[in-house]
Amino acid sequence: MARNTDPKCKQCRREGVKLFLKGDRCLTLKCAIERRNYAPGVHGQNFRRKVTDYGLQLREKQKARRTYGILERQFRGYYKRATRQKGLTGENMLRLLELRLDNLVYRMGMASSRSQARQLVRHRHFAVNGRTVTIPSYQCKPNDKIEVREKSRDLGVIKGAIEARDPGSIVSWLSVDKEKLHGSVLSSPSRADIPVPLNEQLIVELYSK
Ligand code: SF4
Repeated sequence: MARNTDPKCKQCRREGVKLFLKGDRCLTLKCAIERRNYAPGVHGQNFRRKVTDYGLQLREKQKARRTYGILERQFRGYYKRATRQKGLTGENMLRLLELRLDNLVYRMGMASSRSQARQLVRHRHFAVNGRTVTIPSYQCKPNDKIEVREKSRDLGVIKGAIEARDPGSIVSWLSVDKEKLHGSVLSSPSRADIPVPLNEQLIVELYSK
């Protein structure tokens, strides 16, 4: 599956917010948003225009897509799946995105960013319910157990990430055992449990046109 290879900091500057795509660097003053908080390109600093409703919806969709590191076609697929579920489409879509394996590895603190989590999953370092899974978009569900595989337990990148992660930042619907390097999905998250500053309703309005 193709992945988004655009420069990460440029994506944040385009959206005008920190998307936390680069792990620890995002928390330092080296962050490009701290140094150059304007859109990329020669006209980035002085380009002004009236933002239309469509523009607002588009930016919100791009922000969500970039946050989770997904390309357009796959992202639209999540929207379509969400429309087929009961409940609010926007919330369903965010829930599907949150339950991706790469996002869960990141949320559990076993990787410092979603892109690193994606690479670790691709490189066979994780198992779900005892079976190796190499698909970053693998959809997990409540009660699934995600663990670092036996042969990967000494990997510095995983140990470093989990040590550096503030335990208070782990969301309430996940449990993590830092020593044994595994975690579980306790429940399906509601919108209030998903700490992403997005207005998902704007995305639904964009796709439902
Ligand atoms: Fe975004 Fe992180 Fe780059 Fe800052 S350092 S601009 S948050 S990717």
